[in-house]
Amino acid sequence: MNFQFSESQQTLVAQVRAFSEAEIAPYAAKWDADEHIPREQIQKYADAGYFGMTLPEEFGGRGMSTLDAILVIEEVARHCGISGRLIVDHNFGAVGTILNFGAEAQRRRILPLVCRGEKLMSIGMTEPEAGSALTDLVTSATKDGKTYIIDGEKRWITGAGEREFTLVYARFNEVPGPEGIGAILLEEGMPGYTYGPRIRSLGVRGVREGVLLFDQVRVPEENLVVAPGSAFANLMSAYNGQRVGASAVALGITQGAFDYALEYADNRRQFGKRLTDFQATQFKLANMAIEIDAARFLIYRAADTARATITSRYESSVAKVFVSEMAIRVTSEAIQLLGAEGYGRHHPVERMFRDARAFTLAGGSAEIQRLGIATKILGRSLPQQADDQRL
Ligand SMILES: Cc1cc2nc3c(=O)[nH]c(=O)nc-3n(C[C@H](O)[C@H](O)[C@H](O)COP(=O)(O)OP(=O)(O)OC[C@H]3O[C@@H](n4cnc5c(N)ncnc54)[C@H](O)[C@@H]3O)c2cc1C
Repeated sequence: MNFQFSESQQTLVAQVRAFSEAEIAPYAAKWDADEHIPREQIQKYADAGYFGMTLPEEFGGRGMSTLDAILVIEEVARHCGISGRLIVDHNFGAVGTILNFGAEAQRRRILPLVCRGEKLMSIGMTEPEAGSALTDLVTSATKDGKTYIIDGEKRWITGAGEREFTLVYARFNEVPGPEGIGAILLEEGMPGYTYGPRIRSLGVRGVREGVLLFDQVRVPEENLVVAPGSAFANLMSAYNGQRVGASAVALGITQGAFDYALEYADNRRQFGKRLTDFQATQFKLANMAIEIDAARFLIYRAADTARATITSRYESSVAKVFVSEMAIRVTSEAIQLLGAEGYGRHHPVERMFRDARAFTLAGGSAEIQRLGIATKILGRSLPQQADDQRL
């Protein structure tokens, strides 16, 4: 075990910090207020090499370790949570699924486009009646000659209507539960593929959350990424990296809120003293720092388990639960340190608090992560319904 960053990691962090301070920090509040991050800005992340960091170079990636990618994400998210999320979505999740389980031709066609930022990627799992109980999903994929016909609806899809590719989880046969589920790539512009209204959210507003509608969408069979059968476990395992990436975003947001609150408290005077001269403030800051540090090491441990973007389920879930709940506590304390000022929109901690709130929900709720952790501790499956294997 080595708790020190290597020289190259220190250089990497310094480079990303300089980039973030120049290209992200001045605009993050505007993207939140506009509820939109411009495509030109997203292109800057691809141009900087932040998409496909962990992918092999032959697919347009940089062949970096998951831990190094996590360092980049954390640094970006210190200033802007949505930018961190964009980078996660183009390193893990659907990208990781295609890398690990897609056909060679798919990897060669799709991944370089994503790494270059020419095509953006979403993942479509959640449905109106299938959230935590994902194995209840009903979006159907019916084979017809050399195409699959997709029918159904997805909800709460990050980037809906803004991204060209979506990896859609669908039911390919009549078999209930996980066995009938596979994943297929849908592309913007396919006839019958449309978007429902935007879902307005508390935080992470710069990226559109929305609804995908599939009405007899014909998708070529070449787009089938993961066939049904025993593949559901693969689909879920590829999602572990997404959880670690999302945790790094939550950590970065929290670190940003802490840094801001620390500086404010050190400058703000009441009762003739700086706020940081009061022991209550000192202990508050110390507690916040302890929580952030603990969260950081859980993320780094999970990242260290990674093989080709897939991290271990247990470590990923432990990190996700702790970090996402820590982020809510600590960003809330950051507001408290600023007093009424912290509640105002003219300081970033208000935005950071709203953004941090997403992570006990997005990417699988904290309760569902706890069920996965309990499964490991108890050494037996804990089905919530007879055929549920998502845990
Ligand atoms: C900002 C954001 C972005 C998202 N992006 C995407 C995306 O890009 N793609 C995508 O597919 N989905 C996305 N989601 C959806 C997300 O994956 C789901 O919200 C999540 O899986 C929970 O499902 P649900 O919201 O339907 O909650 P429900 O399943 O209805 O659960 C409601 C509550 O009950 C709890 N609960 C449910 N079952 C149990 C149980 N057995 N035991 C104990 N507690 C339980 C849950 O933990 C939760 O607190 C996003 C969500 C958010 C908030």
